[in-house]
Amino acid sequence: MENFLKEQYAELGISKAVLDFGDKILLSLKERFAHIDEIAEYNQLKVIHAMQKCRVSEACLSGTTGYGYNDLGRDTLEQVYAEIFHAEDALVRPQITCGTHALALALMSNLRPGDELLSPVGKPYDTLEEVIGIRASKGSLKEYGISYRQVDLLPDGGFNYEAVRAAIHEKTKLVTIQRSKGYQTRPTLSVTQIGELIHFIKEIRPDILCMVDNCYGEFVETIEPGDVGADMTVGSLIKNPGGGLAPIGGYIAGKKECVENAAYRLTSPGLGKEVGASLGVMSSFYQGLFLAPTVTASALKGAVFAANLFERLGFPVIPNGTESRHDIIQAVTFGKPEGVIAFCQGIQAAASVDSFVTPEPWDMPGYDSQVIMAAGAFVSGSSIELSADGPIAPPYAVYFQGGLTWPHAKLGILKALQSLADSGLISENALK
Ligand SMILES: *Cc1c(COP(=O)(O)O)cnc(C)c1O
Repeated sequence: MENFLKEQYAELGISKAVLDFGDKILLSLKERFAHIDEIAEYNQLKVIHAMQKCRVSEACLSGTTGYGYNDLGRDTLEQVYAEIFHAEDALVRPQITCGTHALALALMSNLRPGDELLSPVGKPYDTLEEVIGIRASKGSLKEYGISYRQVDLLPDGGFNYEAVRAAIHEKTKLVTIQRSKGYQTRPTLSVTQIGELIHFIKEIRPDILCMVDNCYGEFVETIEPGDVGADMTVGSLIKNPGGGLAPIGGYIAGKKECVENAAYRLTSPGLGKEVGASLGVMSSFYQGLFLAPTVTASALKGAVFAANLFERLGFPVIPNGTESRHDIIQAVTFGKPEGVIAFCQGIQAAASVDSFVTPEPWDMPGYDSQVIMAAGAFVSGSSIELSADGPIAPPYAVYFQGGLTWPHAKLGILKALQSLADSGLISENALK
């Protein structure tokens, strides 16, 4: 490594031992990183091609106000998303406030009283428990007479096909498939695996709608759920597809009828996609989408680097250092609270925004243990930016994700390692 670079790391509080250890790990990752770059190149071309095909123009970058009739930028962006996610149509709006909202909208608009929702991949993301009514909540699907059934994954992470077949009956209307593990320790599903599951379900009942929660998965592979038969692909713009620039938003890409149902629910029956001013966010939606493939690649390199580095130090990591990747989340298990705290404090210290604050474990609504969160982000709560969090409960694991650029992701992981070393949780000897 060049001396000027070493000096800069020293300025940022990285010791020679930590830096050298990181470099040693990185030497073994050249091929992995080259593969990630190739996927980013493919997806960059896919995004550019979609923008060209949909004739994105300078006029698309300015927004509308009021009702937002004839919003060229909004309507064109929705075509671009439909193109990229291999869908007939898409709803991409700042009025969709987050990922949970996008998923809730897709479910509530496509299910009717008496219908049943099925998750064949186990427990959904925490916030969806209230949407569905697994945990009682105002306005849940359950309150509207929509029932829910769940089939857990097999112990090895595979699909329990026989149980899925048995769970499908005449009321089953929609199947929800979560791609990312979220904050669980099951493996993340590849798009190909999701395709196999969709194929199996459609063979039993072709009219069952298959929705994929695509959060954290966009642009990690060369294909997306729409390429393998998903009727709806749903996600958040403050994760991968917003490229770090989108300040808010969510998307639903899928069958024309599904998207139409979602639009009538988001705005109003009779109005649908025709209204919804894009205000001033269009240029960040477009530019963020343009940057998303390389931003996702940066986050992915950070995840692979962290997996290999902490695995070498003897900590359990999910996914492991060599596994293929289907989302950008990395879990590292420290086995004690001090490890989780030191890791998160290191990530926070690497931020550009709020680097001087020290995160502490705190009681959070919806959790039965305290949680520590590191997030110094330009967009509040954005988890495509360098971030980490961990519940202070066994097995004392942190979930790490994001990094808008690879050098920032690298700095974050080195700072986390430095923080663990400074707390005496990793010995100097281990770094040799
Ligand atoms: C983040 C996430 C959500 C919810 O998105 P929010 O924007 O936090 O509401 C849902 N599902 C998965 C798998 C996620 O990672």
